[in-house]
Amino acid sequence: MREYRGFPASPGIARGPALLFFDDEEVVTPNFVLAERDIDGEWARLLVAVEKAKAEVTVLRDRAHDMAGAEQASIFDAHLLMLSDPDLFENVEKRLRSTFRNIERVLIEVETEFVDRLSGVEDPQLQERVADIQDVSRRILGHLLHAERATLAKLDRDVVVVARDLLPSDMMNMDREHVLALITEAGGKTSHVAILARAFEMPAVLGVGEALDAIGAGTPLIVDGSSGLVIADPDAAAGARAELTRTREAERVRELAGLRDLPAVTTDGDRVLLKANIEVPDEADSVLAHGAEGVGLFRSEFLFFKPGHIPGEDEQYRAYRRVLEAMPGHPVTIRTLDIGGDKVLPDFGAGGEKNPLLGWRAIRFCLSKTEVFLAQLRAILRASAHGDVRIMFPMISTVEELDQARDLLATARSECARRCHDIPDRIPAGIMIEVPSAAIASDILAARCDFFSIGTNDLTQYTLAVDRGNERVAALHDPFHPAVIRLIRTTIENGKAAGIPVGLCGEMAADPAAALLLLGLGLGEFSMSSQSVPAVKRLIRSVAMTEAREIAAEAMTMKTASGIRGFLEDRVAGFEDAARRR
Ligand code: PEP
Ligand code: MG
Repeated sequence: MREYRGFPASPGIARGPALLFFDDEEVVTPNFVLAERDIDGEWARLLVAVEKAKAEVTVLRDRAHDMAGAEQASIFDAHLLMLSDPDLFENVEKRLRSTFRNIERVLIEVETEFVDRLSGVEDPQLQERVADIQDVSRRILGHLLHAERATLAKLDRDVVVVARDLLPSDMMNMDREHVLALITEAGGKTSHVAILARAFEMPAVLGVGEALDAIGAGTPLIVDGSSGLVIADPDAAAGARAELTRTREAERVRELAGLRDLPAVTTDGDRVLLKANIEVPDEADSVLAHGAEGVGLFRSEFLFFKPGHIPGEDEQYRAYRRVLEAMPGHPVTIRTLDIGGDKVLPDFGAGGEKNPLLGWRAIRFCLSKTEVFLAQLRAILRASAHGDVRIMFPMISTVEELDQARDLLATARSECARRCHDIPDRIPAGIMIEVPSAAIASDILAARCDFFSIGTNDLTQYTLAVDRGNERVAALHDPFHPAVIRLIRTTIENGKAAGIPVGLCGEMAADPAAALLLLGLGLGEFSMSSQSVPAVKRLIRSVAMTEAREIAAEAMTMKTASGIRGFLEDRVAGFEDAARRR
């Protein structure tokens, strides 16, 4: 029996055998000498892989054309030309027949030769071809190596997935019936893997260093996503402990379920709103079931991570309508596309940036891909006929961005009107406060939008200069840092002064200790994964606003994140004890 520790990223206990899932880049490229009789077969393998690559690029080209225009599509046209380039393949065949090396090896050698030759040339156009050649060659190689990534989509048995990291598309496409839990080497509590694992109610432990090396394929595992413990080859006692924890957890959930229909109100009568974050439309059904009062954040970008498919306006409209109809009488805040950063969609020509988290992300992407943005805005506006919708722009860092986004919203509205869609007159449009500039200048921004939602996952990342998905620095990604909570306080105060609602939809909202602080700072809306709502509701219902204010005031004088957290956790424990005794 061996134990490993990581970040508790999504609660729950699961038991099952390990399925090791390797990144494409980590698949070791084979390198061997062929017998002469195998050469023709090897060449045939290449031709099949090239045909598959062509089919794939054609789909990408057409999609890019529909969604992003001719310029983006032309990148893929160049790739198609290369995939039919007789010179290139003559070169590959010659080398295969003269060196007797396996085809993957030959392909890499030819690619390296081309790249070396072109890298020395001054002509920028030729230099651009380097990236194209690498892309095309990697695509063919992926097909030759049978692209390991495809395997999570269809599994024939229950498994615990162990991976270095998982892309949003891996998460969206995985066979959820059979994935019992996740273990990754990378990632922190607010990474997209963690967020999606919680959305799928799938236990997950992230940041388990060297998991792929340490855990063998098929090893029986126990994953405790609440404590961050992974046990390999558990003995009978560990199995029994896991069962006990599972029973206790189920009891706790049953107990908290009693709060479902009760309001989130403090003991002295202050009412706040608890809402849910969702990533896929199907999650909408569990929002009200957990006692949330609407959707505070619909991460719409995950609609775009289905394989071989980018949703157009009509498909998006149906998805938004589905969520609104599941939430009659309750508000639903749809955040416009937040791709880029760690959520790269290569089909849009994104990716390959040196510093993606500081790059072409979220609203920056949408303001330059206006066709994509307008299609989404029209879809949301049309869906607004079916419920109480709000529109939220992510990663706003300047007034100009907000103004441009609002102008495009007005354009989308007139386009809908021209097409005879009946759009309600007033649909609130707000922004996420998730970069320090927005928090600091929130007094200016408040005058130009209808609400704020503080995104502490990114606000912490950008304030503290800590990549939220990097396990090496994950411990530094702490929203209790005095700098972060000061920015939160400033935002709440400026929002209040302007008379607009201020909510918070980062993972911080799900932590009762943080909720106590935020309540005392005057936050009116908390949005979190549905599962987390009951525990936060219990805390809010056990404390008086006057006390929460005093506690927050004291926390704001403290110097360290750990000090603030410890102080708040103690106070929460006190309230919960008192509530239990009542
Ligand atoms: C955030 O940054 O806090 C947030 C809610 O957005 P996301 O986690 O999707 O970046
Ligand atoms: Mg964010």
